[in-house]
Amino acid sequence: MLSARTAWIFDLDGTLAQPQHDFDAMKQQLGLPLDLPLMEGLNGLPAARRAAAWETVAAWEHALADRALAATGVHDLLEALVGRGCRVGILTRNRRDVALRTLDALGLQAHFAAADVLGRDEAAPKPAPDGILRLLRRWNAVPSDAVMVGDSVHDVGAARAAGVFGVLVGPQPTAEAVALADLVLEGLPQVA
Ligand SMILES: [Mg+2]
Repeated sequence: MLSARTAWIFDLDGTLAQPQHDFDAMKQQLGLPLDLPLMEGLNGLPAARRAAAWETVAAWEHALADRALAATGVHDLLEALVGRGCRVGILTRNRRDVALRTLDALGLQAHFAAADVLGRDEAAPKPAPDGILRLLRRWNAVPSDAVMVGDSVHDVGAARAAGVFGVLVGPQPTAEAVALADLVLEGLPQVA
C-alpha cells in the first residue's frame, strides 16, 4: 500500500519539474555517444577534455534551473505527503546546487530540508542505491517504509537496488524502465 509508506524520495528533472533537458542535443554538442547516459559519456572522455565538458553541462543545467516549470499535481502531492507526516527528499543526477535552485524556481523549497536534497556529488549517482539508503539512514527509516518516484530507468533501477518501492511516472516510459518499476503511473496526480 503506497499510502502506508512514510519515506518518499523523488527524482527532480522530468518528475517534480516538467522535462526540459534535451540530453541527446547536449551529447551531440559535446561529441558524446548517444547510446550512453550523459554522465557516463562525460566520464568516458579523455581527461584533457573532461573538465571543460563538465563545465559546459553545468552551465546548461544552471540555465535550465531558472526556467523550470512544475509538473502537474506536484504541489498537491507534496502538501498531502508532508501533511500526513511523511519525510520527503530529492535524489537527482543533477548537481545539488542546481537542484536547490530548481526547487526555488518551482516554489517547492519549503517542502524540502536542504540536507534531504542529494545530487550526483553527494552519493553515487542513480541507478546506484547509495543516495536512497543515505536518506533512509538520515530518517531512521527502512526500505519497506520507502518509495522512490521518478521518470527514468535510473530512478526505478535505484529503487530496485535499494529494495524500496519504485514508481515510474511519465507519459512515455521506456520498456527498460517499465520492467524495473513496481508501479507505472501517468503522472503525479495518480500517485496520491
Ligand atoms: Mg528525471
